[in-house]
Amino acid sequence: MTETNPEPPAPGNDAGLTIHFWGVRGSLPTPGLATVRHGGNTLCVELRRGPHLLILDAGSGAREFGRELAASGVPLDADIPLSHTHLDHIRGLPFFAPMIDPAAKLRFRGGHLAPPDGIAEALPRSWRAPLMPDLDAAFRAELAFRNFTAGDALEPHPGSQVGTVALNHPGNAIGYRIEWDGASVCYITDTEPPARGLDQRLPRFVTGSYVMIYDASFTEEEYKSRVGWGHSTWRAAADLADAAAIGQLVLFHHDPGHDDTTMDTIARAIVARRPGSLTAMEGMRLEVRGRDRSAHNA
Ligand SMILES: [Zn+2]
Ligand SMILES: [Zn+2]
Repeated sequence: MTETNPEPPAPGNDAGLTIHFWGVRGSLPTPGLATVRHGGNTLCVELRRGPHLLILDAGSGAREFGRELAASGVPLDADIPLSHTHLDHIRGLPFFAPMIDPAAKLRFRGGHLAPPDGIAEALPRSWRAPLMPDLDAAFRAELAFRNFTAGDALEPHPGSQVGTVALNHPGNAIGYRIEWDGASVCYITDTEPPARGLDQRLPRFVTGSYVMIYDASFTEEEYKSRVGWGHSTWRAAADLADAAAIGQLVLFHHDPGHDDTTMDTIARAIVARRPGSLTAMEGMRLEVRGRDRSAHNA
């Protein structure tokens, strides 16, 4: 990892924050032999520090995560900040095992919708008729829905702070910056850079974070015919990471048309452009430590 982070590490703290990627595919689940190494499930990322858990988005990758949580026998108590409610980010919820556990507590947070609509209204539509059988009665977990405005700071647990920023995406999306006892991780997915230069808000928002998970849906060639779709390229990701002195860049929200061979090409290109960068793979774990400002494959 490049040592470009300008912030001093938190004194006396090297407790680890674990990032586990349960789904890394954008737009649509893409199972099959051609995507088996990078993974075909849509977006779901677990951030864990000790007993505390944040779940960023709940795409189809949430199903396997839920199976593991249920197998642990420990009722889930978690905050679930959503980037937005496009289906690739929430379609795993009807199949997320903790939803039917009466001992589970799930607090959904969203900031991309304009009142009077909010996540309490928008999210349950995805598990009600006619899209699904009505599942409200089956979902016995304690569910809470909390709206915020982009720019608000959240504090889901003592010692953690979560900054929020509006992203450039059709229907809006929210980026998050999680500061957890000296470790900082940014989750910036579903956003498109402006036509010229950098989005000026984002470098400030993500500056100096140890890890930035970033939307890199398209190649430069693909992007030419997809302007306005609300997604980025790996070059835009690298430019932002350089401008904001990010420690480690992790490309995310892979286009469903990108098979493992294409992803290998992108992985080689991003490492050549910015050494130490990673291309997210389903099942990948990273350990982020505050003391040495590093992220490691775990
Ligand atoms: Zn998406
Ligand atoms: Zn979207």
